[in-house]
Amino acid sequence: MHDIHCPNCGSSDIQPRTVKDRLRASDLRGEIFELALQLPVWTCRACNLCWQGQEAVAAVEAAYQNALVRRSPSRITTWNEPHF
Ligand SMILES: [Zn+2]
Repeated sequence: MHDIHCPNCGSSDIQPRTVKDRLRASDLRGEIFELALQLPVWTCRACNLCWQGQEAVAAVEAAYQNALVRRSPSRITTWNEPHF
């Protein structure tokens, strides 16, 4: 966690930050929707570079899965109940 260095200047004076971001995503039916999320990013205090790490990738994935569940009309479905 504290092994992070700035990819620009190599400084280890890194601050975690959270930024609001919006992404275009498509759901399981192929409909485009806007995904609003809080994205964890790193900021270098030496050169002010701001970049995304693995945490941001995970956050995007989690937000996307969350949005899919919320957009799904049949989210309360039990497996042993025939649905068709
Ligand atoms: Zn830097």
